[in-house]
Amino acid sequence: MPTYARADIVFERGQGPYLYATDGRRFLDFAAGVAVNALGHAHPYLVEKLTEQANKLWHTSNLFRVAGQESLGKRLTEATFADTVFFTNSGAEAWECGAKTVRKYHYDSGNPQKNRIITFEQAFHGRTLGAISAAKQEKLIHGFDPLLDGFDQVPFGDLDAVRAAITPATGGICVEPIQGEGGIRAGSVEFLRGLRALCDEHGLLLFLDEIQCGMGRTGKLFAHEWAGITPDVMCVAKGIGGGFPLGACLATERAASGMTAGTHGSTYGGNPLATAVGNAVLDVMLAPGFLDEVQKTSAYMRGRLEELIAKHPSLFLELRGQGLMLGLKLGQPVGDVVAKLRANGLLSVPAGDNVVRLLPPLNIGEAEVNEAVGILDRTAQECVG
Ligand SMILES: *Cc1c(COP(=O)(O)O)cnc(C)c1O
Repeated sequence: MPTYARADIVFERGQGPYLYATDGRRFLDFAAGVAVNALGHAHPYLVEKLTEQANKLWHTSNLFRVAGQESLGKRLTEATFADTVFFTNSGAEAWECGAKTVRKYHYDSGNPQKNRIITFEQAFHGRTLGAISAAKQEKLIHGFDPLLDGFDQVPFGDLDAVRAAITPATGGICVEPIQGEGGIRAGSVEFLRGLRALCDEHGLLLFLDEIQCGMGRTGKLFAHEWAGITPDVMCVAKGIGGGFPLGACLATERAASGMTAGTHGSTYGGNPLATAVGNAVLDVMLAPGFLDEVQKTSAYMRGRLEELIAKHPSLFLELRGQGLMLGLKLGQPVGDVVAKLRANGLLSVPAGDNVVRLLPPLNIGEAEVNEAVGILDRTAQECVG
């Protein structure tokens, strides 16, 4: 179906942060498959672990124990707030598992009426009927009525609006700590702490969507760590598989207490191939120094982007985001700027609020940042004249 407005390029191979098209052109990839290729393309260790697994066993279904799933689950719980994990193939499925976990928790706690979740304007949680019903953005929901009931939306960042929206039917709050599709809008530390406090005060579950901002993207394994809070439920995907389809819903034992045998499932979720890659990604990300290096690269890149804003203030209006999840709000239509950047050899991703997203592989260095900044500078000169 023609559901995508695709750029007319076919890539035939990738190497680290570079993609090579069939027509011979080379691109610096600061789109990274929309924050998915967290370790770049054709990472030798990931290739090794994937092919090693491919020679042994691909799929058995979840009727049996899956060794890679058990080890990946154990490592994710050791590295986070979570006690338990459900594996999926995509972000939207991980989000669905989270939403079901919230509802089931209250049902099993004797509060079946607490089945509504507060969500935020400009949110993005995926394209299933549940996820679009939660995000309620016009471009996502248009023509897809009737939506699923059970989601109450308030402005992002507005704690008073959240407080006012809490009713006896509220069961949880679902938020992206940094909105991705919505335009790289970071929730402040006070906002995220305030949500945690409201959840504690009203017996709600805090459900974080870290599908885009998680897995090292902000320079910590998960973005909520910057606010010093922990959620009850969290969905993860994108970077966790480094390009192999994998997602996960993490939860505390208490929050997931209703998710017992038979209540949820997936044929493929967490299969041996996917979890072999997931384990390999974690091997790299949890190695000493990896996340520190992301923070260092981010600090350097932010500095260089601030210089660009000073140099081209009519095109680059504002720098947003954290770590290597950065966005530039633009003074010209983002679609035009993304196309011009691409013509000059830099891949980026458009977002809401006329923001261009820069989501490079996490293992780039200053040389790649300089190359990207050079292309942004040249493109700005073309745009502004
Ligand atoms: C990409 C994304 C999703 C959906 O993930 P899919 O794998 O496309 O289903 C959900 N939430 C956020 C924050 C995302 O960035």
